[in-house]
Amino acid sequence: MFELDDNIVRKNILNLKPYSSARDEFSGDDGVFLDANENPFGELNRYPDPYQKELKKKLSEIKSIPSENIFIGNGSDEVIDLTFRIFCNPGKDKALTFSPGYGMYDISAQINDIELIKVPLNQSFQIDFDAVEKCLNDKALKLILVCSPNNPTGNIIDNIELLLQKFKGIVVIDEAYIDFSKTDSFITKIKAFPNLIVSQTFSKAWGLAASRVGTAYASDQVISLFNKVKPPYNVSGLNQKAVLKALKNYSEFEKRKSIILEQKSWVEKQLQGIPVVKKVYHSDSNFILVEVTDSDNVYNKLIRKKVIIRNRNSLVKNCIRITVGTPEENKTLIKELSEL
Ligand SMILES: *Cc1c(COP(=O)(O)O)cnc(C)c1O
Repeated sequence: MFELDDNIVRKNILNLKPYSSARDEFSGDDGVFLDANENPFGELNRYPDPYQKELKKKLSEIKSIPSENIFIGNGSDEVIDLTFRIFCNPGKDKALTFSPGYGMYDISAQINDIELIKVPLNQSFQIDFDAVEKCLNDKALKLILVCSPNNPTGNIIDNIELLLQKFKGIVVIDEAYIDFSKTDSFITKIKAFPNLIVSQTFSKAWGLAASRVGTAYASDQVISLFNKVKPPYNVSGLNQKAVLKALKNYSEFEKRKSIILEQKSWVEKQLQGIPVVKKVYHSDSNFILVEVTDSDNVYNKLIRKKVIIRNRNSLVKNCIRITVGTPEENKTLIKELSEL
């Protein structure tokens, strides 16, 4: 049986008695509020709901998961950082992820003084289970981070369930791009795997990058740990409102998503005929990894044309990563790329 004991959770976090805010001690919304040293005047003068109850209720309907299994943070970057802080003892524990992968895991691990083991993905950008298995006996290994669809490669990672079965520590699946994919989210597997944390974000398919809102879905015990370590009012009132508004307009979300997916197919097709393009990788997200003849050269030349893409040469040789834009933006990209 998996248990959140001090083999899994840091001892200081298990024993932590969290800060109790004014809104923790009284959470009703009717009365004369003289308990939080707020200014009685103004429009943004009151602290926001520390547990984002209204937002979680709506999200719970859309994702078909109870509110108790949802944590909302300041972007998924905060979710990842809190995960390190809850489960990994600085200077002692280790985490594992895959390369090429998302660069923030590295930074977050370094800030938290955690050694991050990077296991190379195979030629098809899939998990090499033999290589992973060699690391699983290390008692210091507490956390595995998998990004699916993966950034910067764009593909869904297969057989993650095998990882969940084999590894007895915490597995985080970063699903920042899952809404663009045909594959189901791992949210449905939270009951089956108490060691699973699914991370999602409003920054990509929901179009709310500026609002910095990310979510973690996990067992209620894991969510309680997140609530213990988070700053009391971690998601601003303005941002809670912005996300709630977007959630209530689901048809707009779907409409924009389908335009992006249509445009992705169009861009993929156009790329095939361009002289500097050597390979267009399969994408399950809203960006495309493309191998070109000389990525530094392509990147710099496009910059001069005021078209900004990401040069991923340091991660995958001679590859650029192109985000799918509006039809106009994509036409500009293809025009400038063709004329290089
Ligand atoms: C963009 C992205 C995120 C989003 O992070 P936020 O902090 O929620 O904006 C998370 N993970 C990956 C892999 C990403 O590419």
